[in-house]
Amino acid sequence: MEKFLKEINGETWLVEDERDNMKLDYRIKEVISSKESPFQKVNVIDLHDFGRCLVLDGVIQTTELDGYIYNEMISHIPAVTHENPQDVLVIGGGDCGVVKELIKYKDLKSIDMVEIDRVVVEECIEHMPTIAGNSSKDERVNFLFEDGIKFVNEKSKYYDVAIVDSSDPIGPAEVLFSEDFYVSLKNSLKDDGIMVCQSQSPVFHKDVLKKTHSILKKHFPIVRIYKAIVPSYPGGMWSFTLASFKYDPLKANIEKLAKNTKYVNSDIFNSCFGLPTFMKEDLGLD
Ligand code: SAM
Repeated sequence: MEKFLKEINGETWLVEDERDNMKLDYRIKEVISSKESPFQKVNVIDLHDFGRCLVLDGVIQTTELDGYIYNEMISHIPAVTHENPQDVLVIGGGDCGVVKELIKYKDLKSIDMVEIDRVVVEECIEHMPTIAGNSSKDERVNFLFEDGIKFVNEKSKYYDVAIVDSSDPIGPAEVLFSEDFYVSLKNSLKDDGIMVCQSQSPVFHKDVLKKTHSILKKHFPIVRIYKAIVPSYPGGMWSFTLASFKYDPLKANIEKLAKNTKYVNSDIFNSCFGLPTFMKEDLGLD
């Protein structure tokens, strides 16, 4: 049995070994699929209360219960902030939830999804249709199975929007939190380009958020942190860091926001950049 599964009174539980002092146990209804890829253990597990979940190396990536919150916030905010996005890059995003949101914008011309692990995409399209949707059938979507850092090194001034939907900064995703990667990503953007990345929990991963913020402040004139509540993520509170050469989300034309969403709307768009005092103090923001 995988080390992140344990039997308790004849029931099987997923144990997310998040921190020394915090273990998250989830009661399992059924293990739908279990694969070992060259990069990680890939499981689709049906959990009580959370529905089907993508689990990589024992860590929950997305769930049917709340995946839309994260996927809507990391995709609609930059898509609406940019005045006229045409070419979009998604790094990671194996569950296809981000691409599912982006295809709601009919004016987009191309969406390159650069995912290191083909097994994740195949398992999610087959076993998690509520998350992946029909994104794989949209002809604007190009699936590229490569390491994100190698891919962006070959691109220059090409993308309007780049979205880094990575797993935690461990294993294959560690490089996606490095300054080298962010500089290459910056160079892959057009002169009025925007990038956004998931920057972990502002409570439990302060160091990651502070490092990401300080790196991007060095390379972009506009850097904005925003937040959302994702119940299945450690502590629930999650952060995103948007960096832009020209367009400021605080001045975005929110009328462009897609209407068929379950979480993001104009009130959320306007309020998600409002940060609690502890985050402002942590980040040295007024
Ligand atoms: N929303 C989730 C989260 O915040 O934890 C992440 C969702 S998505 C499943 C993360 C994807 O990033 C995974 O499919 C993983 O394989 C991919 N990934 C990790 N390292 C990568 C790399 N270096 N290049 C491209 N994709 C990578």
